[in-house]
Amino acid sequence: MNDRIETFGGLRDGPGWLTAMLRGAARKCPKCGRGKLFAGYVKTAQACGDCGLDFSGHRADDAPPYMTIFIVGHLSIPLAVAVKQLFDPPLWTQFAFWLPVIILSTWALLPATKGAMVGLQWANGMHGFAGPDADPSADA
Ligand SMILES: [Zn+2]
Repeated sequence: MNDRIETFGGLRDGPGWLTAMLRGAARKCPKCGRGKLFAGYVKTAQACGDCGLDFSGHRADDAPPYMTIFIVGHLSIPLAVAVKQLFDPPLWTQFAFWLPVIILSTWALLPATKGAMVGLQWANGMHGFAGPDADPSADA
């Protein structure tokens, strides 16, 4: 744990990328795992309340919605097709069931994918998480 990890943004201390992503997915600071990552639904806090890590450097952008749509779509569409082929329910029943399932699972998953993306960016020293010895041309 005391070994320094080399990232795109220079050397850093702390957990590996998987732990950082899991902590972010749990809405916790990817560095310490204790402070809150979000100040709102998916609005990141300015900094970790425990270790002081500045979260303003993340550039999650469209990746979390993309991953959320990818996951929810790849789970719900095959299940909806399987239900259709096995039970052939009326169309209104399919809509009445799958629409709330898709909306609720998207709502539940989006903060986790954003947290995981912020954790991955921090773990790799990307964007604003790059250290002072980072190569400024690496982010271009
Ligand atoms: Zn922290």
